[in-house]
Amino acid sequence: MPGMKDHDTDLATRIVHHDYLPPVGFVAPQPGVYKASTVIFPNVAAMRTREWKDKSGYTYGLHGTPTTFILEERLCTLEGGLQCVLVPSGLAAIANVALALLKPGDEVLIPDNAYGPSKDLANGELARFGITHVLYDPLDPTDLAARITPATKLVWLEAPGSVTMEFPDLCEQVRICRARGITTALDNTWGAGLAFAPFDLTGDGSLGVDISAHALTKYPSGGGDVLMGSVITRDLALHMKIKLTHMRLGLGVGVNDAEAVLRSLPSIGLRYRAHDEAARTLAQWMQQQPAIAQVLHPALAGSPGHDHWKALCGAAQGGPGAAAGLFSVMIDARFTQDQVDLFCDSLRLFKLGYSWGGPMSLVVPYQLASMRARSSAHLQPGTLVRFSIGLESVEDLQQDLQQAMERAFSLA
Ligand SMILES: *Cc1c(COP(=O)(O)O)cnc(C)c1O
Repeated sequence: MPGMKDHDTDLATRIVHHDYLPPVGFVAPQPGVYKASTVIFPNVAAMRTREWKDKSGYTYGLHGTPTTFILEERLCTLEGGLQCVLVPSGLAAIANVALALLKPGDEVLIPDNAYGPSKDLANGELARFGITHVLYDPLDPTDLAARITPATKLVWLEAPGSVTMEFPDLCEQVRICRARGITTALDNTWGAGLAFAPFDLTGDGSLGVDISAHALTKYPSGGGDVLMGSVITRDLALHMKIKLTHMRLGLGVGVNDAEAVLRSLPSIGLRYRAHDEAARTLAQWMQQQPAIAQVLHPALAGSPGHDHWKALCGAAQGGPGAAAGLFSVMIDARFTQDQVDLFCDSLRLFKLGYSWGGPMSLVVPYQLASMRARSSAHLQPGTLVRFSIGLESVEDLQQDLQQAMERAFSLA
């Protein structure tokens, strides 16, 4: 039936190439969600000449859409940077930086308390590509300085360190690297652009990191339901290196995920403060508990690097300063691993799970001995448990901790 086929073909074509355009000028609180792998060009000349490396136009979904451009610009504002690439996870941000800047024979310095998978990347792919890495003591800038060699091309910084929460002298670390012409990359997931300004550490524009990598999975998402990362810079040439590697590796992000982060971003400051206040209340309360040998939270006096936190995160002038909603405790060494596991299993509101920054409080017991290259004299002996404080009632969380400690650590 040729007639019917013609009609079907015609209909199919008209639906694909439909000529209705909505009126321009639509304005709403949230930006539009533009989804594309393919981007349409008006003619061959435009296709040949369209620039993909900046935001002057569109070439392919991987290189950006209005939605991802808007998110990139807002993240630049959050962190005080000028250029941004979006990647599918925080770990991808770390990998993008390494693969953009390092080549065989180069060396990268990583703090001993770095985010664990960053060390795994160095032990795995980087080692396989002939790139060596050296772990340095994050609490001793002279150790960092001593480990820099002519092969050192990149220094990773983290403030505070993962899990053990030591706050380094970030300013001194950056000064040391800068004096030797070495690129610095900060894992800024904890600070999130809110606790301190990574590109302006001294407040007078004279000192900052070169690169800020951020796991948007945490506070920018805020929901525990999105994986994304960003790499932000203030130097166009450095950004272009990262962007070229980003393109060649194909590290695009899903637009629905970009939309989710855009939706959460306006409330990041309020959420960060709420997580901070609740975490400090609970961390201080945990300090009073007999089963707890040490509480690791940079805003608590006596926590490793507290004075550096105080100087950098706004508490030096007598205000409260800013911190993320994370802390760890060292459960006294007189308790067994089984008791610590029972404590974690007994928690009802705190759920067992990785990551942080979402509304639900989380807990993870860690086996620290396998995670650190050097001994940690600043840590009490015991078993480490890390808490991420969500947005539940602080009283309810405190009661939950109390009942789980009574169950697991009662000495009766
Ligand atoms: C979570 C986290 C990452 C990795 O982010 P993902 O999106 O989970 O890959 C990197 N660094 C730090 C400090 C983190 O907490």
